[in-house]
Amino acid sequence: MRSTLIALLAFVAVFLLAAPAQSADRDSLRKPCATPAVTQAIVDQRTAELGETGKSMWIVQDMSVSHPKLWGVIAAKNIVWVAETAGCGFLRSLVDHEWAHLQQDRKYPGRADAAYGGMDEVEIIADCVAKEFGNPDYSPYLKLRGSGCTEYEKQSARSLIELR
Ligand SMILES: [Zn+2]
Repeated sequence: MRSTLIALLAFVAVFLLAAPAQSADRDSLRKPCATPAVTQAIVDQRTAELGETGKSMWIVQDMSVSHPKLWGVIAAKNIVWVAETAGCGFLRSLVDHEWAHLQQDRKYPGRADAAYGGMDEVEIIADCVAKEFGNPDYSPYLKLRGSGCTEYEKQSARSLIELR
């Protein structure tokens, strides 16, 4: 009985110590998954939800040499690389953003840049797709611009989602 009580108190103490440290960590979104395998599982789950099974290939891998500044990249037609060091917290946003690029090319094959008026807008609309899916945690290009999605951008994002 006494040992159970001691174990319970120890558990509560550990929880109390751990909880504030975690909630205070503003960078927790950027923390990598525990292992690359976990990252691949999350990516596979989200791409299946998006209906990509059998349509595209998503490979979680070390991108530190090939694309050191990117978390995700369209490596070839319907092949997407995701950095194994991508933060667990924004992995869903990241997949949605890269998926938007696949959809942009499906809607405007080989001419998405021209259709949207340049690469900047292509990236912004990909961020807007992630936002339309309810992912507020990661939108690097909107952050860079310093403003949210315009009505036109929201509409463009919705049309890519409806294209599924
Ligand atoms: Zn992008």
